Amino acid sequence: MASAFSHAIAAVAIGKISRAARWPGDLDKVDLKFWLIAIFCAVSPDFDAIGFWLGVPYDSVWGHRGITHSLFFAGLLSYVMVHFFYSEEKVFSRRWLILFLFFFAVTASHGILDAMTDGGRGVAFFAPFNNARYFFPFRPIRVSPISITRFFSGRGWEVLKSEFVWVWIPSFILMAVAPLIKKLRTT
Ligand SMILES: [Zn+2]
Repeated sequence: MASAFSHAIAAVAIGKISRAARWPGDLDKVDLKFWLIAIFCAVSPDFDAIGFWLGVPYDSVWGHRGITHSLFFAGLLSYVMVHFFYSEEKVFSRRWLILFLFFFAVTASHGILDAMTDGGRGVAFFAPFNNARYFFPFRPIRVSPISITRFFSGRGWEVLKSEFVWVWIPSFILMAVAPLIKKLRTT
């Protein structure tokens, strides 16, 4: 994984830039529920790390970076989130689709960032249909240790440095540009 902090920051950046476009009706108002769900979606694929303690082999589709890092899971999680937290939205309406696509993109961003890390196994983007693991050719992000204690040892600093450059700075740029785009659109 990239660290949970970085997945969360990426989620907020994706949220800010998506919201630079006008969202229909009251969806255009920012609320806490929206951000909490976005962060939850971006971080939750790593709950599969529990498999390490349960003895699930890393290569298994149930292992780390397996099914929970797939596009299929991103769709499923997004569907569940919109179903429960935006139950007032009519399924497949424009508002429903916007929310669904947004939470899908945020969840999928997790696997995309993981596929840019320099260690661990690749990401099973196409599970459960094809369980092969993939990395992108460009992998500048140092892989984050799973264990918190190891994270706060020396390796953690290296990881944070690479995530700062490759995730945080691009995210902050998106966050800074988003209000400008929004302003341009409304003037
Ligand atoms: Zn991960």
